Amino acid sequence: MTVGRYAPSPSGRMHLGNLLCCLLAWLSAKHQGGRVVLRVEDLDAARCPRRYADLLQADLAWLGIPADEGGDKGGPAAPYFQSERSDIYQQYFDLLCKKGLVYPCFCSRGQLHAPSAPHLADGQVLYPGTCRDLTPGEVAARSARRPPAWRVRVPEEVVSFTDGHLGPYAQDLARECGDFLLRRADGVFAYQLAVVVDDALMGVTEVVRGADLLSSTPRQLWLYRTLDLPAPGFVHLPLLLDADGRRLSKRDGDQSLEHLQQRYTPEQIVGKLAFVCGLQSAPDPRPAADLVDAFSWEKVPKTDLCLPEGLF
Ligand code: GLU
Repeated sequence: MTVGRYAPSPSGRMHLGNLLCCLLAWLSAKHQGGRVVLRVEDLDAARCPRRYADLLQADLAWLGIPADEGGDKGGPAAPYFQSERSDIYQQYFDLLCKKGLVYPCFCSRGQLHAPSAPHLADGQVLYPGTCRDLTPGEVAARSARRPPAWRVRVPEEVVSFTDGHLGPYAQDLARECGDFLLRRADGVFAYQLAVVVDDALMGVTEVVRGADLLSSTPRQLWLYRTLDLPAPGFVHLPLLLDADGRRLSKRDGDQSLEHLQQRYTPEQIVGKLAFVCGLQSAPDPRPAADLVDAFSWEKVPKTDLCLPEGLF
Protein backbone atom coordinates (compact mmCIF):
# COMPACT_ATOMS: atom_id res chain seq x y z
CA MET A 1 0.00 0.00 0.00
CA THR A 2 1.18 3.51 -0.79
CA VAL A 3 2.17 5.41 2.34
CA GLY A 4 2.59 9.12 1.75
CA ARG A 5 3.57 11.67 4.35
CA TYR A 6 3.36 15.25 5.49
CA ALA A 7 6.67 16.42 6.95
CA PRO A 8 6.12 20.08 7.84
CA SER A 9 8.43 22.19 9.98
CA PRO A 10 5.82 24.22 11.83
CA SER A 11 7.68 27.45 12.64
CA GLY A 12 4.58 29.47 11.73
CA ARG A 13 1.15 29.05 10.14
CA MET A 14 1.05 27.14 6.86
CA HIS A 15 1.19 29.23 3.69
CA LEU A 16 -0.10 28.41 0.23
CA GLY A 17 3.12 26.62 -0.75
CA ASN A 18 2.84 24.25 2.24
CA LEU A 19 -0.84 23.73 1.51
CA LEU A 20 -0.22 22.83 -2.11
CA CYS A 21 2.43 20.32 -1.08
CA CYS A 22 0.10 18.71 1.49
CA LEU A 23 -2.79 18.64 -0.98
CA LEU A 24 -0.73 16.91 -3.68
CA ALA A 25 0.83 14.45 -1.21
CA TRP A 26 -2.66 13.53 0.02
CA LEU A 27 -4.19 13.30 -3.47
CA SER A 28 -1.33 11.18 -4.79
CA ALA A 29 -1.56 8.72 -1.87
CA LYS A 30 -5.36 8.56 -1.89
CA HIS A 31 -5.50 8.11 -5.67
CA GLN A 32 -3.42 4.96 -5.16
CA GLY A 33 -5.69 3.80 -2.34
CA GLY A 34 -3.01 4.65 0.22
CA ARG A 35 -2.72 6.57 3.44
CA VAL A 36 -0.77 9.54 4.79
CA VAL A 37 1.45 9.83 7.87
CA LEU A 38 2.08 13.14 9.62
CA ARG A 39 5.58 13.64 10.99
CA VAL A 40 6.27 16.98 12.62
CA GLU A 41 9.79 18.15 11.71
CA ASP A 42 10.47 20.17 14.83
CA LEU A 43 14.14 19.17 15.25
CA ASP A 44 14.83 22.77 16.12
CA ALA A 45 12.26 22.75 18.92
CA ALA A 46 12.89 26.38 19.85
CA ARG A 47 11.83 27.51 16.35
CA CYS A 48 8.78 25.22 16.21
CA PRO A 49 6.56 25.81 19.26
CA ARG A 50 3.95 23.12 19.79
CA ARG A 51 1.04 25.48 19.17
CA TYR A 52 1.93 25.62 15.45
CA ALA A 53 1.87 21.82 15.22
CA ASP A 54 -1.57 21.87 16.89
CA LEU A 55 -2.84 24.49 14.46
CA LEU A 56 -1.40 22.59 11.52
CA GLN A 57 -3.33 19.44 12.43
CA ALA A 58 -6.53 21.44 12.84
CA ASP A 59 -5.87 23.15 9.49
CA LEU A 60 -5.36 19.87 7.65
CA ALA A 61 -8.63 18.55 9.06
CA TRP A 62 -10.41 21.80 8.13
CA LEU A 63 -9.13 21.48 4.55
CA GLY A 64 -10.44 17.91 4.35
CA ILE A 65 -7.01 16.30 4.08
CA PRO A 66 -6.28 14.97 7.59
CA ALA A 67 -3.41 12.52 8.10
CA ASP A 68 -4.37 8.89 8.81
CA GLU A 69 -1.53 8.30 11.24
CA GLY A 70 1.00 10.32 13.20
CA GLY A 71 1.06 13.70 14.89
CA ASP A 72 -1.17 13.66 17.98
CA LYS A 73 -3.07 10.67 16.56
CA GLY A 74 -0.02 8.48 17.16
CA GLY A 75 0.46 5.09 15.53
CA PRO A 76 2.88 2.16 15.32
CA ALA A 77 5.97 4.32 14.68
CA ALA A 78 5.32 6.83 17.51
CA PRO A 79 6.52 9.34 18.47
CA TYR A 80 5.86 11.37 15.32
CA PHE A 81 7.52 14.57 16.55
CA GLN A 82 11.20 14.73 15.60
CA SER A 83 11.96 16.60 18.82
CA GLU A 84 11.11 13.35 20.65
CA ARG A 85 13.15 10.99 18.46
CA SER A 86 16.76 11.87 19.35
CA ASP A 87 17.46 8.39 20.80
CA ILE A 88 16.50 6.82 17.48
CA TYR A 89 18.70 9.20 15.45
CA GLN A 90 21.55 8.46 17.85
CA GLN A 91 21.44 4.74 16.96
CA TYR A 92 21.80 5.45 13.26
CA PHE A 93 24.44 8.10 13.89
CA ASP A 94 26.38 5.43 15.86
CA LEU A 95 26.05 3.00 12.95
CA LEU A 96 27.64 5.53 10.60
CA CYS A 97 30.38 6.13 13.19
CA LYS A 98 31.08 2.38 13.33
CA LYS A 99 31.54 2.40 9.57
CA GLY A 100 34.21 5.09 10.01
CA LEU A 101 32.18 7.60 8.04
CA VAL A 102 31.70 10.32 10.66
CA TYR A 103 34.17 13.00 11.76
CA PRO A 104 34.07 16.06 13.99
CA CYS A 105 34.10 19.48 12.33
CA PHE A 106 35.32 22.56 14.19
CA CYS A 107 34.78 25.10 11.43
CA SER A 108 32.98 28.26 12.50
CA ARG A 109 30.05 29.73 10.62
CA GLY A 110 32.34 32.51 9.41
CA GLN A 111 34.87 30.02 8.00
CA LEU A 112 32.16 27.99 6.27
CA HIS A 113 30.54 31.01 4.65
CA ALA A 114 33.70 32.92 3.75
CA PRO A 115 33.42 34.57 0.32
CA SER A 116 36.29 32.34 -0.86
CA ALA A 117 34.33 29.15 0.03
CA PRO A 118 33.22 27.15 -3.03
CA HIS A 119 29.55 27.84 -3.76
CA LEU A 120 27.15 25.52 -5.53
CA ALA A 121 24.60 26.43 -8.19
CA ASP A 122 21.81 26.70 -5.59
CA GLY A 123 23.83 29.15 -3.46
CA GLN A 124 24.77 26.53 -0.84
CA VAL A 125 28.37 26.30 0.28
CA LEU A 126 30.33 23.17 -0.59
CA TYR A 127 32.22 21.97 2.49
CA PRO A 128 35.89 21.95 1.41
CA GLY A 129 36.86 19.09 3.76
CA THR A 130 38.86 21.25 6.18
CA CYS A 131 38.40 18.88 9.17
CA ARG A 132 38.26 15.63 7.19
CA ASP A 133 41.71 14.39 8.07
CA LEU A 134 42.58 15.90 11.45
CA THR A 135 44.92 13.82 13.62
CA PRO A 136 43.62 12.48 16.99
CA GLY A 137 45.84 15.08 18.66
CA GLU A 138 44.32 17.94 16.67
CA VAL A 139 40.82 16.67 17.45
CA ALA A 140 41.59 16.51 21.19
CA ALA A 141 43.09 20.00 21.25
CA ARG A 142 40.17 21.55 19.35
CA SER A 143 37.52 19.65 21.34
CA ALA A 144 38.89 21.26 24.49
CA ARG A 145 38.06 24.69 23.02
CA ARG A 146 34.62 24.08 21.49
CA PRO A 147 32.23 21.19 20.92
CA PRO A 148 32.33 20.01 17.30
CA ALA A 149 29.59 19.49 14.75
CA TRP A 150 29.64 16.07 13.03
CA ARG A 151 29.90 15.40 9.31
CA VAL A 152 29.62 12.32 7.15
CA ARG A 153 32.31 11.47 4.60
CA VAL A 154 30.67 11.13 1.18
CA PRO A 155 32.25 8.89 -1.46
CA GLU A 156 33.38 9.83 -4.97
CA GLU A 157 30.15 8.66 -6.50
CA VAL A 158 27.42 9.86 -8.82
CA VAL A 159 24.00 9.02 -7.38
CA SER A 160 21.13 9.03 -9.85
CA PHE A 161 17.44 8.35 -9.57
CA THR A 162 14.23 8.97 -11.47
CA ASP A 163 11.92 11.47 -9.86
CA GLY A 164 8.25 10.52 -10.15
CA HIS A 165 7.42 13.91 -11.63
CA LEU A 166 10.60 15.64 -12.79
CA GLY A 167 12.34 12.60 -14.33
CA PRO A 168 16.01 11.58 -14.21
CA TYR A 169 18.34 13.43 -11.83
CA ALA A 170 21.99 12.79 -11.01
CA GLN A 171 24.45 14.31 -8.59
CA ASP A 172 28.17 13.88 -8.05
CA LEU A 173 28.23 13.59 -4.26
CA ALA A 174 31.81 14.72 -3.69
CA ARG A 175 31.60 17.71 -6.05
CA GLU A 176 27.99 18.85 -5.78
CA CYS A 177 27.12 17.94 -2.22
CA GLY A 178 30.27 17.45 -0.13
CA ASP A 179 30.58 16.04 3.39
CA PHE A 180 27.31 17.11 4.97
CA LEU A 181 26.21 17.67 8.56
CA LEU A 182 24.67 14.86 10.61
CA ARG A 183 24.63 16.70 13.90
CA ARG A 184 25.09 20.31 14.94
CA ALA A 185 27.54 21.41 17.62
CA ASP A 186 24.61 21.98 20.00
CA GLY A 187 23.66 18.30 19.69
CA VAL A 188 20.63 18.70 17.41
CA PHE A 189 20.59 16.05 14.66
CA ALA A 190 20.47 17.33 11.10
CA TYR A 191 17.44 17.16 8.84
CA GLN A 192 19.25 14.91 6.31
CA LEU A 193 19.75 12.10 8.82
CA ALA A 194 16.40 12.48 10.59
CA VAL A 195 14.33 12.51 7.41
CA VAL A 196 15.90 9.29 6.11
CA VAL A 197 15.57 7.41 9.40
CA ASP A 198 12.00 8.60 9.91
CA ASP A 199 10.66 7.93 6.43
CA ALA A 200 12.14 4.43 6.59
CA LEU A 201 10.91 3.58 10.11
CA MET A 202 7.48 5.07 9.43
CA GLY A 203 7.06 2.86 6.36
CA VAL A 204 6.78 5.77 3.92
CA THR A 205 6.80 4.60 0.30
CA GLU A 206 6.18 7.92 -1.46
CA VAL A 207 7.77 11.27 -0.61
CA VAL A 208 6.02 14.26 -2.18
CA ARG A 209 7.76 17.57 -1.53
CA GLY A 210 8.91 20.83 -3.10
CA ALA A 211 11.54 20.93 -5.84
CA ASP A 212 13.78 22.92 -3.48
CA LEU A 213 14.62 19.54 -1.91
CA LEU A 214 15.44 17.77 -5.19
CA SER A 215 19.17 18.36 -4.68
CA SER A 216 19.00 16.80 -1.18
CA THR A 217 17.62 13.54 -2.57
CA PRO A 218 20.88 11.93 -3.83
CA ARG A 219 22.58 12.27 -0.42
CA GLN A 220 19.45 10.88 1.23
CA LEU A 221 19.41 7.92 -1.17
CA TRP A 222 23.06 7.30 -0.35
CA LEU A 223 22.22 7.36 3.38
CA TYR A 224 19.37 4.85 2.87
CA ARG A 225 21.79 2.50 1.13
CA THR A 226 24.58 3.02 3.66
CA LEU A 227 22.22 2.45 6.60
CA ASP A 228 20.58 -0.51 4.88
CA LEU A 229 17.13 1.10 5.05
CA PRO A 230 14.38 0.81 2.39
CA ALA A 231 14.15 3.99 0.29
CA PRO A 232 10.81 5.49 -0.78
CA GLY A 233 10.00 6.83 -4.25
CA PHE A 234 10.39 10.60 -4.65
CA VAL A 235 8.04 13.04 -6.35
CA HIS A 236 9.08 16.69 -6.38
CA LEU A 237 6.57 19.37 -7.20
CA PRO A 238 7.29 22.74 -8.77
CA LEU A 239 7.58 25.70 -6.44
CA LEU A 240 4.70 28.10 -6.01
CA LEU A 241 5.63 31.72 -6.80
CA ASP A 242 3.66 34.90 -6.27
CA ALA A 243 2.53 37.03 -9.21
CA ASP A 244 5.94 38.80 -9.14
CA GLY A 245 7.79 35.50 -9.46
CA ARG A 246 8.99 35.43 -5.83
CA ARG A 247 8.91 32.28 -3.72
CA LEU A 248 6.15 32.27 -1.13
CA SER A 249 7.35 32.16 2.42
CA LYS A 250 5.92 32.23 5.91
CA ARG A 251 6.73 35.94 5.95
CA ASP A 252 3.98 36.63 3.39
CA GLY A 253 1.39 36.92 6.13
CA ASP A 254 -1.64 37.45 3.93
CA GLN A 255 -1.09 34.09 2.29
CA SER A 256 -0.95 32.24 5.56
CA LEU A 257 -3.88 30.07 6.53
CA GLU A 258 -4.70 32.41 9.39
CA HIS A 259 -5.82 35.06 6.90
CA LEU A 260 -7.08 32.75 4.18
CA GLN A 261 -9.47 31.09 6.63
CA GLN A 262 -11.18 34.39 7.29
CA ARG A 263 -11.90 34.94 3.62
CA TYR A 264 -12.47 31.52 2.10
CA THR A 265 -14.05 28.13 2.71
CA PRO A 266 -11.83 25.03 2.54
CA GLU A 267 -13.46 24.13 -0.79
CA GLN A 268 -12.60 27.55 -2.22
CA ILE A 269 -8.95 27.25 -1.18
CA VAL A 270 -8.64 23.68 -2.48
CA GLY A 271 -10.37 24.63 -5.75
CA LYS A 272 -8.05 27.58 -6.36
CA LEU A 273 -4.94 25.51 -5.60
CA ALA A 274 -6.19 22.70 -7.84
CA PHE A 275 -6.60 25.27 -10.62
CA VAL A 276 -3.08 26.67 -10.11
CA CYS A 277 -1.50 23.22 -10.39
CA GLY A 278 -3.49 22.06 -13.40
CA LEU A 279 -5.95 19.69 -11.71
CA GLN A 280 -8.99 21.65 -12.85
CA SER A 281 -9.54 24.20 -15.60
CA ALA A 282 -11.21 26.90 -13.46
CA PRO A 283 -10.75 28.02 -9.83
CA ASP A 284 -14.16 26.64 -8.78
CA PRO A 285 -14.70 25.49 -5.19
CA ARG A 286 -14.01 21.77 -4.77
CA PRO A 287 -13.72 19.43 -1.78
CA ALA A 288 -10.33 17.69 -1.81
CA ALA A 289 -12.04 14.27 -1.82
CA ASP A 290 -13.65 15.10 -5.20
CA LEU A 291 -10.22 15.45 -6.82
CA VAL A 292 -8.94 12.00 -5.86
CA ASP A 293 -10.28 9.88 -8.74
CA ALA A 294 -9.09 12.09 -11.60
CA PHE A 295 -5.76 12.98 -9.95
CA SER A 296 -2.68 12.49 -12.14
CA TRP A 297 0.85 13.88 -11.86
CA GLU A 298 0.74 14.31 -15.63
CA LYS A 299 -1.64 17.25 -15.22
CA VAL A 300 0.76 19.09 -12.91
CA PRO A 301 3.28 21.35 -14.70
CA LYS A 302 6.98 20.66 -14.20
CA THR A 303 8.07 24.30 -14.10
CA ASP A 304 7.48 26.83 -11.29
CA LEU A 305 3.81 27.68 -10.72
CA CYS A 306 2.79 31.33 -10.60
CA LEU A 307 -0.19 32.44 -8.52
CA PRO A 308 -2.28 34.63 -10.83
CA GLU A 309 -2.75 38.18 -9.55
CA GLY A 310 -5.93 38.47 -7.47
CA LEU A 311 -6.65 34.73 -7.20
CA PHE A 312 -6.29 34.84 -3.42
N1 GLU B 1 10.39 19.71 6.84
C1 GLU B 1 10.71 20.13 5.52
C2 GLU B 1 9.99 21.44 5.22
O1 GLU B 1 8.99 21.75 5.84
C3 GLU B 1 10.31 19.13 4.46
C4 GLU B 1 11.21 17.98 4.44
C5 GLU B 1 10.86 16.91 3.42
O2 GLU B 1 9.76 16.94 2.85
O3 GLU B 1 11.70 16.02 3.20
O4 GLU B 1 10.46 22.16 4.36
